[in-house]
Parts: sequence; structure tokens; C-alpha cells
Amino acid sequence: MPPTTKTPLGKGKRTNGGAGTAGPRPPRAGTPSKTAAADRAIHAKSGRRGAGPQSTRAVPQPATPTAPARRRTPPAPTPAPRSTEEPLIETRTNFAWANWHTTSGVGGQVESFYTPRNVWFDGTSSEQAWAPGLRALCNLVRQAEVAQERIRCIGSGWSLNDIAFTHQNLVNTARLSSYFVGFRSDDMVAPAFRPIKNRLVFAQCGTQIVALNNALAAAEPRLALPTSGASNGQTIVGATQTGTHGSAHEYGPCPNFLRALHIVAEGGRHYLVQPASRPVVTPAFAAYLGAELKADDELFQAATVGLGSFGLIHAVLLEAVPMYGLGRYVKQVDFGDVEQAIYDFDVTGLGLPTGNTMPWHFEVVVNPYRRGRGEKGAFIRTYEKFSIAPGEPLPIIPVGPGGKVNSEDLVTIGGLLTNVVPALIPDALQGQLVASVAPTGGQVIRGTPGGQFDDSQPTNGGTSMELGVPYRSIKDVAAAIFRVTDQYAFGAPVAFRWVKSSPQTLSYSPFAPITCHIEMPGIDAMRTREGYRRIWSALDAAGLKYTCHWGQHLPVGPAWLTAAYGRPRINRWLAARRAFLSPAGRWMFGNVLLDTYQLGS
Ligand SMILES: Cc1cc2nc3c(=O)[nH]c(=O)nc-3n(C[C@H](O)[C@H](O)[C@H](O)COP(=O)(O)OP(=O)(O)OC[C@H]3O[C@@H](n4cnc5c(N)ncnc54)[C@H](O)[C@@H]3O)c2cc1C
Repeated sequence: MPPTTKTPLGKGKRTNGGAGTAGPRPPRAGTPSKTAAADRAIHAKSGRRGAGPQSTRAVPQPATPTAPARRRTPPAPTPAPRSTEEPLIETRTNFAWANWHTTSGVGGQVESFYTPRNVWFDGTSSEQAWAPGLRALCNLVRQAEVAQERIRCIGSGWSLNDIAFTHQNLVNTARLSSYFVGFRSDDMVAPAFRPIKNRLVFAQCGTQIVALNNALAAAEPRLALPTSGASNGQTIVGATQTGTHGSAHEYGPCPNFLRALHIVAEGGRHYLVQPASRPVVTPAFAAYLGAELKADDELFQAATVGLGSFGLIHAVLLEAVPMYGLGRYVKQVDFGDVEQAIYDFDVTGLGLPTGNTMPWHFEVVVNPYRRGRGEKGAFIRTYEKFSIAPGEPLPIIPVGPGGKVNSEDLVTIGGLLTNVVPALIPDALQGQLVASVAPTGGQVIRGTPGGQFDDSQPTNGGTSMELGVPYRSIKDVAAAIFRVTDQYAFGAPVAFRWVKSSPQTLSYSPFAPITCHIEMPGIDAMRTREGYRRIWSALDAAGLKYTCHWGQHLPVGPAWLTAAYGRPRINRWLAARRAFLSPAGRWMFGNVLLDTYQLGS
């Protein structure tokens, strides 16, 4: 086991980590996040977990051009705990952290790895369940500031790159999973939101999507998230910070349901940030949190897809919707049968249960090596929305052949591919797609959103690359991708999903009216990485614009970023961050990956 300290910090009593008991309205009976995965973000690199001595906190940071001058003296020792006033934080030093998929090259040795909890050092909790966790984040920021070190939060560690990583201070938010659903009275809610105050959800940063799905389904009235990714292990903040999306072409990606952010920034001061043009709460709610209220559209839109770099986000306020159902239908066809539908975003003639009407979620997964007539290399996966009346039982997805309940998410499919020799890739991929995407044999399988977009397994070395492109350029982008795969086979399908454009400044779905996301999940091997590189080069050579998923494999250097967003949009994001944080603060909450895109400091 890695060294663990018991300072104010301390290794501690486990708490229910889930729903708190106090707030403008107490939460429902607490289903914490997936309990088995409560420490999910702690992933040790094999054989390295716990390696190394317990250290003090002064391992030098590699020089960064914009890093502020480092302190010469060691950082101040952490003050002795004062029982009920100090939050409990488990601390590991020299901890080897890896992401959930143990993607090669992601993560590494962390000087201080903190797991704060919603209890005080003496084991007591607070009337406001989140209060010790908030205090812990404030203390950790102040401590990093004194030491002039970088600090960052990780969510579930599901990102497939180093967007969450810094080697100095990493805060594991797994135990900060308190939430409440709905406000009891009007006084803390802005007038425009009062009619839906029972649909506003306050969730601490480490609350997983699965916990929210469960809590919302159990609320009265029953609620649901408007959209999510294809599985449910992300945290609410981790998912939104990178712009996680499903295929909700009428709604947009997950950040679209956020209404306010509660951010711990420099000096351990904390702010409730909401748009000035559409405030969701009154100053009374900020006062309840002890936060300073900031109503600022630019800051809100920049920080909502903030890439973890606007501070430590303690919690969010989100807007849920009345519970609805999703009917899954998966059909295997020839690529030629669906090719035009992909290019035109038009399902006419595909023989879907929704007829010629575009379903709520439309997705096509293609085996790029089986595009010929009769090869059945394309899988149409749709989820049509249906309403569920109050009191009507929620649909339960039946267990299918082989014990299968769901159609698998793309990252899992890609990661399960074996690293086979190129000649075997087309068949291996085809077999994997049939088994995982799982055609429904003409049936529509009904479930809740949480039931359909369920669990997934770590793949022990999966990776993925995902593009966002204007939907009118899909044909050209697809042609460029297929030119690469025709010459250079690597084990990844090509999956198309469509998402309504979203307003966050560095949204990964920026193209109006709809951004097409093209994902190529695969096994994390040199061949796959070379395939990705060739695709980016082909798109660059053809002058085609694309964004890249912030939580997945990214091109080297900032050229794609400037081409995709344009300098004015990037400058808006930088300006919002500059207005919120001092140079030292921007450096402290940045990391090496963001530095490489000139976004970090
Ligand atoms: C199996 C699997 C399926 C996936 N499916 C999809 C999908 O369908 N659609 C899609 O778009 N993406 C998908 N992804 C990508 C994934 O949704 C994103 O990478 C997401 O950001 C991961 O969330 P997380 O909670 O693990 O956060 P992390 O990966 O741990 O962190 C992501 C970012 O959030 C920041 N962050 C986390 N918590 C805080 C906090 N409290 N304060 C400040 N910053 C914070 C981190 O610093 C980092 O910058 C999938 C990934 C996997 C592994």
C-alpha cells in the first residue's frame, strides 16, 4: 500500500459519501455513487502502487516557461488538526496514479494525492453534509498556493489523456458526492426558475452520473438527466469539464444542463458562478454556501467547459427534466445503405421504428474495413424518447442472449479489441461490433436513460480519438478517414453521433446547428496512435476544420485548436480565465497538457 498519512488529512473513517442531510431541501435517501467504486479514481500503475518513500512536499516541478518563481524554503507544515474544525483528508505521497483505462503514457507519479471526505477530523459530520468537503478543498488550495505548486482535481479518471493530471497535488473527488434534489422554497431561487425549483439539483463534484440517475429516478416527481454519455461512471464535474456528450441532437452535450458552478479559487475563496443573463439562484443561496456570488456570462461559459483549470469546482447546480424513457433499436446494415443518411443527417428510407422521423438519438458505427455490398459493416443504433406517466412503472431492460442487457459504449468496444496483426483486424473488428453493439433483432428495447446508458468495464489499455466536425463536412471528413484506413488498418471502428451545438466558449460541440462527432475507439497501441496521427494530417491537408474531445487522445501542438475555434474564441476563454485568476492562480490550476496548447498559464 502507498504511504498514507493521517494529518488533518488523515486516513479515515469511511462516510456514506452520498446524499447529505442539510440544504435548502434535504436530499432523498442517499444513494452514494457506485459504492464499489468509491475510491475509483485511485488507480495504481501496476507494480508501482505505493512505490517510493513517504516524502515531504518539495519535489521540484519541471520548469515551465510561465511558472512563477518557486519558493526556496520548504512549504509550511500543515497545522495540527483542531478536531471539529478540520476536514478529514486522506493523503498519499509519491502515489502512482493512472487513469481508469490505464492508457499508456497517461498519469504518473504524484507527490501528494488527496482524498477529502465529508467529515471532520474527529469523525463527526456537518448539518450541511458538504461543508467538510468544501473546507478541505479551500485548505488544499491555500496549501498549494503557499508551496507555489500546481493543484488539480480528478473526477473518475475516465479521460484517456492527461487533462486531469498534474504531478504535484491531485485531489481525488470520489468522496465528495453529496447532493440534493429540489429547493423547498422560493427565496433562494431566481424568479425564472421558481416554477421548476423541484428540478434543480445541487451536486458535489464527485457525484457520479450513476448516482444522479438513481437519485433522480427516486425523486418525487421522478426526474432524469436531459442527456449523458454512453455510460455512467463519470463524475458530474469531470464529465462537464471536457464536454461529454451522447447523441442528443436536439439538446446538446452535458454542460448544457449546468446552471451554476461553485468554484474554490485562489486564497481558498469560493464563488458561485452563474450567467448574468439567466441567473438561477438569488444571493441567499450563495450566502447559504458561504460563497461570493458572481453573475458573469463570459466566466460561466468559459468555466463550464473549463478543462479543470478555473479552480477546484466544489459543486454544480443542474437542471433535470421529467423522467422519460428511451427505446433502443439496433440494426446491422451494409454501409452503402446508411452512407447517405450519415452525410445528410436524414433517416428517410432506413426502415427505423420512427419511420422517416429522426429519433432522439441517432448513431452509426462503421467497420471501415467492411464497407462493401453484402458485408454488413454498419450498425445503426437509435434511442427514441417516450414519455412515462406519473405512477407508471419504470421500464426495466430485460436480460438478453448471453446475459447482455445493454448495447456497449464505444470506448469499451474499442478497448476490447485485441492488438491483432493488421490482416486480421477487419474480421476481429466485425466480430467485436456484432457482439458489443448487439443488434436487437427488430425489437425496440425500452428502458430509462440510466438503464440504457449503464455501466462499463475498464479495458486495461483502451484509448479513443474523437472529432467534432460541422455536419455539412461529414462527407469530406469521412472520405479522408476512409482514405487512411484503406491504406493503414488499425483496430478502431468509426462511429458517428450528432449533438446540438453548445454555447460554452471551448465547447467540444461548437458547430451550429449540429456538430457531428466521429469517434474511433481502439486498443492503445502504437499502430492506433499512428492511425490517429495520419487522420489528423489528412484533415489538415484537406483544410477540414475539426475539434477534438478534450478527454481523449489529442493532436500534438495547438494548430488544430486555432483552426477549429479561431483566435477570437480562444482569446475569450483566456480573457475570462485572466479576469478570474491572477497569473499565479492560472499557473496553479493549469497543467502540462494545457501548457502545450497555450491554455495553461
Ligand atoms: C468507458 C468510457 C466511456 C466514455 N463515453 C463517453 C461518451 O459517451 N461521450 C463522451 O463525450 N465522452 C465519453 N468518455 C469520455 C469521458 O466522458 C470524459 O473524459 C470525462 O471528462 C470523464 O469524466 P471524469 O469524471 O472521469 O473526469 P476526469 O477524466 O477525471 O477529469 C476530466 C477533467 O475534469 C476536471 N475535473 C474533474 N473534477 C473536477 C473538479 N472537481 N474541479 C475542477 N476540475 C475537475 C479534471 O481536472 C479534468 O480536466 C468516455 C470515457 C470512458 C472511459
